[in-house]
Amino acid sequence: MKYFSTNNKDIRYSFKEAVIKGLAPDNGLFFPVSIPKLDDEFFQRLTELSLPEIGYEVAKLFVGDDISDSDLKKITKEVLNFPIPVVPIEDGVNTLELFHGPTCAFKDVGARFMSRCLSAFAKQDQEEVTILVATSGDTGSAVANGFLGVEGVKVIILYPAGKVSKIQEQQLTTMGQNITALEVDGTFDDCQALVKTAFGDADLNAELSLTSANSINIARLLPQSFYYFYAWAQLQPTDKKVVFSVPSGNYGNLTGGLLAKQMGLPIDSFIASANINKVVPDYLSSGKYEPKASVQTISNAMDVGAPSNFARMMELYQEKHFDIIKDVKGAWFSDKETQEAIADVYSRNKYILDPHGAVGYLGLKRYLNTEDEVGVFLETAHPAKFKDTVEKVLNIEIRVPDYLQECLGKEKKSILISKDFSEFKSFLLLK
Ligand SMILES: *Cc1c(COP(=O)(O)O)cnc(C)c1O
Repeated sequence: MKYFSTNNKDIRYSFKEAVIKGLAPDNGLFFPVSIPKLDDEFFQRLTELSLPEIGYEVAKLFVGDDISDSDLKKITKEVLNFPIPVVPIEDGVNTLELFHGPTCAFKDVGARFMSRCLSAFAKQDQEEVTILVATSGDTGSAVANGFLGVEGVKVIILYPAGKVSKIQEQQLTTMGQNITALEVDGTFDDCQALVKTAFGDADLNAELSLTSANSINIARLLPQSFYYFYAWAQLQPTDKKVVFSVPSGNYGNLTGGLLAKQMGLPIDSFIASANINKVVPDYLSSGKYEPKASVQTISNAMDVGAPSNFARMMELYQEKHFDIIKDVKGAWFSDKETQEAIADVYSRNKYILDPHGAVGYLGLKRYLNTEDEVGVFLETAHPAKFKDTVEKVLNIEIRVPDYLQECLGKEKKSILISKDFSEFKSFLLLK
């Protein structure tokens, strides 16, 4: 499979190039030149396949020969080593729990897959790679955790001192092994600027093989299609149409589902569920795409005003608004509605939603017709990650999973640096 940039379809890149580069040189996003189809034989076997087996068969179509079959099998097995169950909530409504990974969020799937692809390439080239990650708190831990103990890869995380929560800081600074945390005396923007300057610095590039691990990497997107197949299989047998509601921010998770559908998975439709940052629901209803500054909400991982994967959604539908609205409906909800949904679902079903899952639940309820449809909303984070918000609504205490709690007792290890680039540069050169 070859890839092009969403800004220029004439230049072709291999999967390996696309993963190592992350972003195309023209700042476009990498996208496969065609969407491969899975054959009938695959769909006949689908309900018998394990999640890693599904992952392997789907990934193979996109990776081609850039990673050997045996390595790819090993990678999917290692990455998908936690359960992703479909759990019934109420009549016709199910949730896909994507939060059983090491950092309790669905981003574990993509981060773990990408890290192992980069490790495989480092091994092929016999060159150690250094990953620079700037984080405002949350995604950094999923990415860094994805690389923990992975051979041939060193990770440097930069986070703004005093600007992340206690549990986030503990997650970032207690991993050890191949992960180093730099505490930057500055803001998240300063962290990002340091990383950006490093990528453009000739001395650093001569000494080190630098790579970014940002969210638009194609190796983070592709694995997000695997679990739609697995969820669909768990719903069988059913004679009803299958509908997915996806709580969305940068729209990578939804794009993973749209890919699965175009690969042949019989999903009837999707609901793009958003909070007040609703540029995509607005686009779906008006045909106009108008990015905006983001607004803070209680489902803060979805506070995105200019979703990075919108370009990929457009590519999948050749920019035809008429076609995309056949497959995707939009919905958005206020914080108040989100809190009410958390309370309502708990009181009726004793199920604890996190704020993001609650938005997905609401989107599904808005459109689902249980007579001929069965619905799944994606639960993208464990409610304990948004403990304060959820506890306030429910007046109960939420148990933090042991593996999330564990890092609280560990010793914080970080290196304090200023936002001055020369200091960061000498640190990298001395490493
Ligand atoms: C990142 C994230 C989302 C949004 O996913 P996108 O792929 O960016 O649309 C939703 N919920 C949680 C908990 C997240 O961390």
